[in-house]
Amino acid sequence: QAKRDGKRCYVWFQEKLEHEMLEKLRIEQGIRDALEKEEFVLYYQPIIDLHNGQTVSLEALIRWNRPEHGLVSPEIFMSVAEESGLIIRMGKWVLKTACLFGKELRDHGRDISIAVNVSVKELLQTDFVDQVAEVLDETGFPSSYLELEIVETLLIEKFEAALPKLHHLRAMGVQISLDDFGTGYSSLSYLKELPIDTVKIDRTFVIDAMKKSAHAAIIETIIELSHRLQLKVVAEGVETEGQRFFLRKKKCDKIQGYLISKPMEREEIWRYLQN
Ligand code: C2E
Ligand code: MG
Ligand code: MG
Ligand code: MG
Repeated sequence: QAKRDGKRCYVWFQEKLEHEMLEKLRIEQGIRDALEKEEFVLYYQPIIDLHNGQTVSLEALIRWNRPEHGLVSPEIFMSVAEESGLIIRMGKWVLKTACLFGKELRDHGRDISIAVNVSVKELLQTDFVDQVAEVLDETGFPSSYLELEIVETLLIEKFEAALPKLHHLRAMGVQISLDDFGTGYSSLSYLKELPIDTVKIDRTFVIDAMKKSAHAAIIETIIELSHRLQLKVVAEGVETEGQRFFLRKKKCDKIQGYLISKPMEREEIWRYLQN
């Protein structure tokens, strides 16, 4: 009986694996097509200054407007894009599109930065810095208004290779943010080694900052240490007034989250900025 169960389990597992592989291949081919057919869309989420409530930057977040699927979130396709290397083409499109929008905002007198997520695979391309320089040049978007967000854990893993790139980008005037901060291990000791401008506290700490005193303490510590190192702090995933109040009391610089706004399409952003 046990043996038969084991076999059945094996077959089931095999089928599941095959199904997952097929799904991945389907997504990979889908991404390829989507790049051709321009099915990707950038949404933008406001980041506001906690002291005066002004929108200081917009984070570009990719969506896939996939026929018959609707709007697909990056959580579904980003890992496939990374594994397949398609992230490179996708990333180039994201950077250019975001900078074009940033330039358009500036041309309309808006003093707003644009934050673009960059995966480590993108950052580590030999010519990544040149690519950024080229896009800034082509679009006329000023480097000091571009913020590149890099996920902390991944950056630390590739610390040696990433370091010169970050120095180079900053020398060009580009700002660097450490995304999803706090989810890694040796976070705090690395802070002083990295040429960065901003730390983004991961949403998981913000969620129950009010309920878990340990999380509140972690947030306080990150803010204090960052400020001592002359870094700005953004809290991600702020959803309640209570969280905003807490973060303001702890002298967090900026916040981002559904309390302010969900990510929006370009047209919605224009309307949002009008108010
Ligand atoms: P991220 O950079 O940490 O972006 C923040 C994520 O949290 C976004 O999810 C955003 O929609 C979501 N979020 C913001 N405020 C709230 C809130 O108050 N509550 C909740 N529950 N969620 C909130 P999204 O758009 O699904 O993106 C997921 C991740 O995918 C991003 O995390 C980023 O790592 C990656 N990603 C998105 N766009 C790009 C891109 O163009 N290039 C690259 N390389 N990665 C991207
Ligand atoms: Mg981000
Ligand atoms: Mg994040
Ligand atoms: Mg994230």
